[in-house]
Amino acid sequence: MAQNYGALTVIALAAILLFSGCGRESEVNTEMEGLYIALQPFGEVPDEVLEFLRGELPKRLFGIRVRKIKPPPIPKDAYDPSRGQYLSGPLLGSLQLPEGAVKALGVVDEDLYAPGLNFIFGQASLNGIGGIIALVRLRPEFWGERTGDPKALFLLRALKEAVHELSHSFGLRHCPDPSCVMHFSNTIWDTDRKGADFCGRCRSILGARMRDIIAKYKVRNAN
Ligand SMILES: [Zn+2]
Ligand SMILES: [Zn+2]
Repeated sequence: MAQNYGALTVIALAAILLFSGCGRESEVNTEMEGLYIALQPFGEVPDEVLEFLRGELPKRLFGIRVRKIKPPPIPKDAYDPSRGQYLSGPLLGSLQLPEGAVKALGVVDEDLYAPGLNFIFGQASLNGIGGIIALVRLRPEFWGERTGDPKALFLLRALKEAVHELSHSFGLRHCPDPSCVMHFSNTIWDTDRKGADFCGRCRSILGARMRDIIAKYKVRNAN
């Protein structure tokens, strides 16, 4: 049954967050060669969204490349006709991590929900293989908003959600800084209030996580 609170991001707490390494941020970017984030559109997703994310995500995620990969089909059992929504779990569970991909980002132009929540904008597992974002409720038209530049606002919201969910999969939790992209948002207006970038603390944590992932990837490939 739907609850009365507007819901946003559900995080399955899959692991304890551990940080290691304190190298400089500048060390990260140059080592990202060969590794990438696999961008996976479920069903029909506007190219302009995928291209925008492909261009903007590396600027927030230490230059890591983003590659679109063959889209998986939307899991049929995820659709609930009585709600007109897709359950997020099966979509998250069908993300693929091809060779060289460090994380996956699923994008779906449908409305998503999770058990106990009316809807979600996105979902990720902490330290999991990636995250998903749902575009329907990111469009200003959905909320009857008629001011400003609707397309620019829509793309910016998609970017914030993508950075936020991917960063959960990199091990970042919610941040108390209201301007940080990792700040929890319960409504679309919360999303609008925060930026698409990290506060200093979150950026530093993400850098450390990136270095860990690169180091593990190199060790695995060397064996
Ligand atoms: Zn979150
Ligand atoms: Zn932060």
